[in-house]
Amino acid sequence: MVAQHIMGLSGLAAAVLFIFGLKRMSSPTTALSGIVVAGVGMLLAIAASFLTVAELLQSGNARLETNIALAIAALALGSGWAWWRGSKVGMTEMPQMVALYNGMGGGAAAAIAAVSIFGAQADTSLIRAVTAIGALIGSVSLTGSIIAWAKLDGKIDKPWRFAGQRVVNGLVFLTALLLGLGLIVTPGTAAGLPLAILFFAAALGFGVMMTLPIGGADMPVVISLYNAFTGLAVGLEGYALQNPALMIAGMVVGSAGTSLTVLMAKAMNRSLANVLFSNFGDAAVQGGAGPQGEMKSSSAGDAAIAMRYASSVIIIPGYGLAVAQAQQKLYEFVKLLQAAGVDVKFAIHPVAGRMPGHMNVLLAEAGVPYDVIYDMDDINSDFANTDVALVIGANDVVNPAARTDKSSPIYGMPILNADQARQVYVVKRGQGKGYSGVENLLFFGDNCAMVYGDAQAVLTQMVQSVKDLGA
Ligand code: NDP
Repeated sequence: MVAQHIMGLSGLAAAVLFIFGLKRMSSPTTALSGIVVAGVGMLLAIAASFLTVAELLQSGNARLETNIALAIAALALGSGWAWWRGSKVGMTEMPQMVALYNGMGGGAAAAIAAVSIFGAQADTSLIRAVTAIGALIGSVSLTGSIIAWAKLDGKIDKPWRFAGQRVVNGLVFLTALLLGLGLIVTPGTAAGLPLAILFFAAALGFGVMMTLPIGGADMPVVISLYNAFTGLAVGLEGYALQNPALMIAGMVVGSAGTSLTVLMAKAMNRSLANVLFSNFGDAAVQGGAGPQGEMKSSSAGDAAIAMRYASSVIIIPGYGLAVAQAQQKLYEFVKLLQAAGVDVKFAIHPVAGRMPGHMNVLLAEAGVPYDVIYDMDDINSDFANTDVALVIGANDVVNPAARTDKSSPIYGMPILNADQARQVYVVKRGQGKGYSGVENLLFFGDNCAMVYGDAQAVLTQMVQSVKDLGA
């Protein structure tokens, strides 16, 4: 009884800590402490669960003793593995790691539901319905996230599509729904076990089938969607178990995941349905009459010297900077420019890179101060009065076709106005297209010069060229 009160109170305290932590995560300066605060909330919720079990143990239930030993072993294994992987993972592997961890959350919610479904523990039809819905969503999130991880990690490198796929997927989903309904209306009957097995098979299968046709580059949005699914599934299972901490944590994750999914789709000017059901980035969907003119090129040295003698430079980092891991070199170059009196700013597009905040994290890793980093809306009007825009490994986020070419798949996506600077330098390896697969009109502009090469190598040459000029 005492433990139940403690459990309720700690659930409330954990919820406050989750929300407070989330609030702090909204600014780079307070994000780290936000993660610690939310982590403390999670620790509190786990400790309270153990307290409840400890009280139940006093009633002398031998099965509980085994369960608590299993739970401790699972906690030790999970924490150890997460600590080891988390400290080793590279920035570019972050989306796939998030996919895996997210899938595990969905799987855990489905496992909780499975215990209750197979043990026929849910006694009212409302609880059975909530459990079954949570099981369905959690299972989809588990297998869908695993496929997302495999795609991002290059384990599956092609979208799997066939004629009538949406109909087949729809039928699998409907089957899972009907089987779930069967579980709700026929509790404790002989049909229960085979029904439950088929239900989980259909739900897990649907997660796989829904994710396989989606292109690898769309996976970050899909992961964010599955993140919302996981939160929802955890929240529903929290309700079924009458566990407030689980309920609130699930709702926080569910709503944060939903907001993130909507924001990402909006920043790409695409609907969620377009992400899930269209073949974005395929050659077939490319529109537009194609760019006029020719691309000009420049050497890294010439571009560096032009920037050294400019009075203002705006740098636009993109996915290629993360691939090249050239953020430290970039900051070294920026410090040289600043020492020469150049006003240098960074412009961040909300979907630059491959995950939300990708560029902010990259620049923070290199130690770039926050006061020279600007969001798109705060800096876009400055480009017209800027001497040089330096685009490093970015492509789609500076493509003027988004403003002018109605037939382009990126039409309507807000972009950084790099083309309005007096001179633009674009650092990239070759003629590779961006994530959307469309040609970039900026590269053909009269004021634009391409500096070909890996960002790391080009920046090394730029640094050297400025150093060679002397003080
Ligand atoms: P893009 O993917 O449009 O372009 C990246 C460019 O980097 C490529 O054109 C490539 O050209 C170049 N590049 C790759 N490797 C290197 C390297 N080692 N050195 C130098 N250049 C390199 O990136 P952006 O950041 O401009 O745009 C992000 C795109 O991703 C947007 O379309 C966005 O909608 C999408 N997206 C973003 C998500 C997010 O959350 N941030 C989520 C999902 C999608 P080359 O091969 O010639 O070198």
